[in-house]
Amino acid sequence: MLNQPFNTLNDQEMLRYARQILLDGWDIDAQTNLKNSNVLIIGMGGLGCPLAETLCRAGVGQLVIVDDDVIDESNLQRQSLFTPNDIGKSKALIAKEKLNKINDFCEVFAFQERLTLDNYQEIVKQFNKNSLSNFNLICDCTDNFKTRDHINQIAVKQNLPLLSASGIAQVGQLALFEPYKNSGCYHCLFHGEGDDSRTCATSGVLASTTQIMGNLQAQVALTFLGLNKNPIAQTLLLWQGETLSLRKLKFKKDLNCSICGGEL
Ligand SMILES: [Zn+2]
Repeated sequence: MLNQPFNTLNDQEMLRYARQILLDGWDIDAQTNLKNSNVLIIGMGGLGCPLAETLCRAGVGQLVIVDDDVIDESNLQRQSLFTPNDIGKSKALIAKEKLNKINDFCEVFAFQERLTLDNYQEIVKQFNKNSLSNFNLICDCTDNFKTRDHINQIAVKQNLPLLSASGIAQVGQLALFEPYKNSGCYHCLFHGEGDDSRTCATSGVLASTTQIMGNLQAQVALTFLGLNKNPIAQTLLLWQGETLSLRKLKFKKDLNCSICGGEL
């Protein structure tokens, strides 16, 4: 999947990431893989903020952030890259500004747009004029089923891995789909039938819910990008904050799935 120039770690990066390189099962190769990774993050809210911050600090080489929304007073309780001075400004552009200060080894591209099936190629083209589908991972951090279904269609069509997270009230879900492995997609699991009447605006959300889910998403992303492993293959991870429980449910590809069923 890597089709960009291969970059090695310089001396300062070896120091910056020393505690990670020291890890059992994590070496210079894994850290170098992160540096050569290119991640698309859609949605820079409660999930996108902690995910982007952790990936940026950990040494992912390039992050591409897409969000058309502006920062609202009610976002500050959980959207951890933003402060009161940012109210009214673009989530994507402010996130890029903050991430640049955190780690300038991580290149951040920001688009203040809503990602759709139609403008995906346009955004990719703007980001990289020579390539149309060079993301190593798409991370869905959006907040409604309709958009998630759209992003899933893009991932299946582009044959790219999709790491999808959600968080509301005190519960969260996480799954990493690899459509090129013929192992099912987001639509296989939810059949486009999610309930969009339940949002953070209507049901509320505890600040820790999105921080936990965004960082669980980061954990899976780092393992996938650094070590080329999917630690939750064909598994839906379910977080329940009130009881501190984390459950894993296995799922299978739906052979009749209208998105990935017939062609793969
Ligand atoms: Zn499917």
